[in-house]
Amino acid sequence: MPKYVYFFGGGKAEGDAKMKMELGGKGANLAEMSSLGIPVPPGLTISTTACKEYQKSGGFPAGLMEEVREHVARVEKAMERSFGAGPKPLLFSVRSGAPISMPGMMDTVLNLGLTDETIKALVEETGNERFVLDSYRRLIHMFGDVVMGVSKEHFEAILTALKVEKGVEFDTDLSAADLRELIDRYKKLYKEKLGEDFPQDSWLQLKKGIRAVFDSWNTPRAVTYRKLNNITEEMGTAVNVQTMVYGNLDDNSATGVAFTRHPATGENVFYGEYLVNAQGEDVVAGIRTPQPVNLINKVDDSQQTLEELMPEVYGELAAIRDKLDEHYADMQDIEFTIQDGRLFMLQTRSGKRTANAAVKIAMDYLDHGKISEEVALMRVETTFIDQLLHPQLDPSAEYEAVATGLPAGPGAAVGRAVFDAATAEKWDAKKEKVILVRNETTPDDIGGMNASQGILTALGGMTSHAALVARGMGKTCIVGCGHLKIDFKARKADINGHEIAEGDWITLAVGNKGEVIIGKLPLVDPQFSGEFGRFLELADKHRRLKIRTNADTPEDSRKARSFGAEGIGLTRTEHMFFEEDRIPRMQAMILAEDETARRKALDKLLPLQQGDFEGIFEAMDGLPVTIRLLDPPLHEFLPHLDEEEKIAALAKDMDLSPEQLKKKIAELHELNPMLGHRGCRLSITFPEIAEMQTAAIIGAACECRKRGIEAIPEIMVPLIGHVNEFSYLEEIIRRVADETIKQQGIELHYLVGTMIEIPRAALTADKVAEFAEFFSFGTNDLTQMAFGFSRDDIGSFLPEYLEKNVLPKDPFQTLDQNGVGILVDMACRKGREARPDLKLGICGEHGGDPDSIDFCHRVGLNYVSCSPFRVPIARLAAAQAAIREKNAKK
Ligand code: PEP
Ligand code: MG
Repeated sequence: MPKYVYFFGGGKAEGDAKMKMELGGKGANLAEMSSLGIPVPPGLTISTTACKEYQKSGGFPAGLMEEVREHVARVEKAMERSFGAGPKPLLFSVRSGAPISMPGMMDTVLNLGLTDETIKALVEETGNERFVLDSYRRLIHMFGDVVMGVSKEHFEAILTALKVEKGVEFDTDLSAADLRELIDRYKKLYKEKLGEDFPQDSWLQLKKGIRAVFDSWNTPRAVTYRKLNNITEEMGTAVNVQTMVYGNLDDNSATGVAFTRHPATGENVFYGEYLVNAQGEDVVAGIRTPQPVNLINKVDDSQQTLEELMPEVYGELAAIRDKLDEHYADMQDIEFTIQDGRLFMLQTRSGKRTANAAVKIAMDYLDHGKISEEVALMRVETTFIDQLLHPQLDPSAEYEAVATGLPAGPGAAVGRAVFDAATAEKWDAKKEKVILVRNETTPDDIGGMNASQGILTALGGMTSHAALVARGMGKTCIVGCGHLKIDFKARKADINGHEIAEGDWITLAVGNKGEVIIGKLPLVDPQFSGEFGRFLELADKHRRLKIRTNADTPEDSRKARSFGAEGIGLTRTEHMFFEEDRIPRMQAMILAEDETARRKALDKLLPLQQGDFEGIFEAMDGLPVTIRLLDPPLHEFLPHLDEEEKIAALAKDMDLSPEQLKKKIAELHELNPMLGHRGCRLSITFPEIAEMQTAAIIGAACECRKRGIEAIPEIMVPLIGHVNEFSYLEEIIRRVADETIKQQGIELHYLVGTMIEIPRAALTADKVAEFAEFFSFGTNDLTQMAFGFSRDDIGSFLPEYLEKNVLPKDPFQTLDQNGVGILVDMACRKGREARPDLKLGICGEHGGDPDSIDFCHRVGLNYVSCSPFRVPIARLAAAQAAIREKNAKK
């Protein structure tokens, strides 16, 4: 029979930190801490294998409860207490612990083992009746809600009513007699809702608690979280059954959460928060604002640190912090409880951190020789780079913050205030930018948090749910904004005396002050820190793929180069005509009556393009620049027939009557423009387009060379399906290019290649490579045509596809490796067979997506090309792909 249950606590444990897949992160680390001699309350971990078997069969695997009983007996022995019986009853917490941390997403039940009988023994033992009754009422509430599904609002309503009756404000003001009354009312509610009594059998409580944790793997919020974080459904969760220790026993007790380094800045300082006389849930739920653990993080005199309050215990905690930081060589997120002056560690795990902190921490451990370059690079998720690229408040903007809170998530955000997660999701679907404004967030808010630009909460600390989740998502987030009062009914809020209604614009500027501003302020692109530059250079050292950019203007080219682009993989020449004053010239060319008229129109376009090309070559001095011939899906460039004003203006420009022009537009109308007269088809029917563009590209390159700029042009043909389409245009391009070079009397080397974006081109890549010097995979069109999904219309059904798991991901965002990827892989092989030095790249949107970049590395592309802002992400993703490959070979 397989082993399902593992013991930890009081020295050498049965598992260790490497067993995360089996014991979950929490269980594996509890075992590791225990073996390191760190005080953890003893307990047992039920493996993910047991969970997976439960998910399959709907019941506990055979022998599981017997194994649990054996291990509980070990805990009883270690603690000298007995589960479910006096004189010293043992109590358990039951918590989930998946192999990948999913903070707050699954269930926890505390105080299992309390019954009408055991509370008597416990009162006798502790002499603290109030504490025992308070624990018991919490158990009935939590068990009723989490395990049995009685909505927590029912319990809360009873509690609120009792407080009103007794005329008290806080739970802590309720006397022991009041709590007895509360317990009676809770039990009555329990019976009324469930038709049975609250279980007085501790073993039954435990069994049901374990089952509830297994079941919580599949709650909607957990499923959403996994989807957002790419966690597989198959993993399952482990269950940790652990001896309860109480931070709410008395004023000599406390509970807290801490990080071994600062989670926002990455500084090597111990950073934590705690509450006296409280349970762990009180800290993370953000209902009371916690106090800093140590003096270094104290900001004003109203705060009382643990270092001052319990100096000895703090000393012990600080020593454990050092031990853990050293042992794991990574920032740890730890939970601790002090029970009557005695310190226990409840958890350690790799802590969530901001992007800046992630880079700083990785570089710091590397600089101190604690980790290798490869480990440092793998430590920083590519999504973190996205966070570093987060907009910030324009430093020149003048404003007055109306309030401040804790700076929990990165960047700055602007949006309309909404007061619940559902509204955030609804407005986001209508393309409204929103800021989610809440008292505190709960795991159920996850969808709304994701839909928001930023999150603002009234309560909670840096370790609250909102802070942890937002930081993980890279969302701008401010928590613990004490001056925020929300009136949910009236759908308005008061921020430090300033009233806002739902829909009003607000700005969050996190920085290190967490500023809340009423109104809509300008944001600016981020600046990279020196540490970040060093980190990306490290990535450059480890990657094989080159990183190019898709840029259509000299300005974007410069920006991309400053981010580290090593050339341009795609200039979409049609995009150069998107500007309002240029578009009529393009339209005139498309609508020209005959070749003469078209040449005339082209003559007007040529100088504009040549000027742009010169600017781009200049920005990319010494680096290759791939310029693609026009690929205008006609519908993007022609006015609609009902746009009377535009038609009149254009007709005038073209010396036509509006009616003549309309007729012409109607003639050019296509039912399916994405599969219509675009790409190379345009230049094959109107070769003067290819001629003009080649003359402009090569003319610009020669011009630059004369000025000492090293222009390296690569001319690219779009949308070929048949080799003859390419060879026909290649001949024109080479003729015009060579003529231009000769005329200019300059030596210039150039390449002619093609996009591979039609499946037929991929299928016949060997034929195409006989002529083309390079391939660039246009995976946008390749995906469109391989799936037969219109790029422009997929939005109408994709959400359902994703929801129903018909597709795991949007294939336009992440390359479909098992389908479209096969075409890419095949084209690479066939192409290289025909031409061993064939240059291979990708310029579809996938070129900036980390998973797709990993694929590009594996199939042996030379470069990926992506939008300027994704260049740094691509640099890291390419390095991680190389490291992954190296690790797999080991
Ligand atoms: C592509 O199809 O992937 C591509 C880069 O071209 P465009 O997006 O311009 O069609
Ligand atoms: Mg394309």
